[in-house]
Amino acid sequence: MKVWLGLDVGSTTTKAVCLDESGRMVAHGVRPTGISGETTAKDLSKELLASLGVVAPIRIVATGYGRARIEEADKAVTEITCHGRGVSFLHPEARTVIDIGGQDSKAIRLAAGGQVEDFAMNDRCAAGTGAFLDVIARRLGMTLDELSAALGDACAEVGPLPVSSTCVVFAESEVVGLLAQGHAPARIAAGIHQAIARRTVTLIRQVKGEPPYYFSGGVARNQAMRAALANELGEPVVCAEHPQLCGALGAALVARALDGLA
Ligand code: ADP
Repeated sequence: MKVWLGLDVGSTTTKAVCLDESGRMVAHGVRPTGISGETTAKDLSKELLASLGVVAPIRIVATGYGRARIEEADKAVTEITCHGRGVSFLHPEARTVIDIGGQDSKAIRLAAGGQVEDFAMNDRCAAGTGAFLDVIARRLGMTLDELSAALGDACAEVGPLPVSSTCVVFAESEVVGLLAQGHAPARIAAGIHQAIARRTVTLIRQVKGEPPYYFSGGVARNQAMRAALANELGEPVVCAEHPQLCGALGAALVARALDGLA
């Protein structure tokens, strides 16, 4: 069996996707990046290849925050290209990709053929990213699943509680204050989702994003975030298939393209 490997070494998680000769996804995995992205990527690749009975892939393409450190890679490619490519492979109709990961968020406008036409990125500040949600969930004593599930009921009548701080550190203190005043954790969580959605919509407007909107990255797994974004945009936001793997899939597609394969 011939395999092309895409690695997405993110700040929070490392993802790997293996495509076979026909372009089918034959193996994939996600694990926490931990202290060494290189070691994690190596271990995850070894595990996936072993599960397929393959000794070495034909080519490796790396993307993500830690892509430059993957020595085995034939090429390193930006996450913008890879998320655009991965999402448009799965959803050729996508025109705008919203990618929110652990430490950054992006809006990517695609041309009709799936090429990146424009993008905007926030990688300076944790507000508007998964890390923000992780910190607040911990502070509210909820898991990410509980955080996203709690919102629907709590906010049906009273709406989100606005959180005004734009910085994670200040927002965390604000949340502590709101809890002390007796506000319901779910309403506070809804306010946080609304704040992140508003920041993301600013990025989308910067690139003149148009529907259909597709959501990739780990945070796309959060249904409350999908709903908050749709609410702010006034348009449906579709969760990409395998949202957390789209970058690694895009990298694997670039790996195939190096050998002239679509
Ligand atoms: P990166 O590529 O930057 O390492 P990911 O795209 O893997 O990041 O996204 C990581 C983020 O995804 C986490 O910070 C977390 O907020 C979010 N996430 C991961 N799994 C889930 C889940 N099951 N439900 C909600 N959010 C999730």
